[in-house]
Amino acid sequence: MHEMALCEALLDAVERRAAGRRVTALRVTVGALHRVPREAFDSAFEVLSAGTVAQGAGVELVLLPLRVRCRSCEWADDADDLLGSCPACGGRDVMSEGGDELVLDIIRVAGSTEDISSDEPSVTGGN
Ligand SMILES: [Zn+2]
Repeated sequence: MHEMALCEALLDAVERRAAGRRVTALRVTVGALHRVPREAFDSAFEVLSAGTVAQGAGVELVLLPLRVRCRSCEWADDADDLLGSCPACGGRDVMSEGGDELVLDIIRVAGSTEDISSDEPSVTGGN
């Protein structure tokens, strides 16, 4: 299941960042192209986080649209999916940007009121 793999990558990042502290809440930004249904994500997270520092943590899932732009007429908008043609002029020269994000924005750990924001924001990018 796709959301399982995504959750595993996310939990790796959470555990690195938490460094052994118990995580009470986290916020993650996921691009529309990952096509992660919120409910599927929640249940995958619940299963995979069992026994980890993130067990029982509240998860705020922020879904990010991708940005599409037509190179023929300069039409641009946000979309949930890739477009085969431009809705404004019907042209097929449509570019898209983003939508593949997977970013662990913030975690909060037990005993702290401060959010730990990211110094290595992308879970999947780089290495
Ligand atoms: Zn167009």
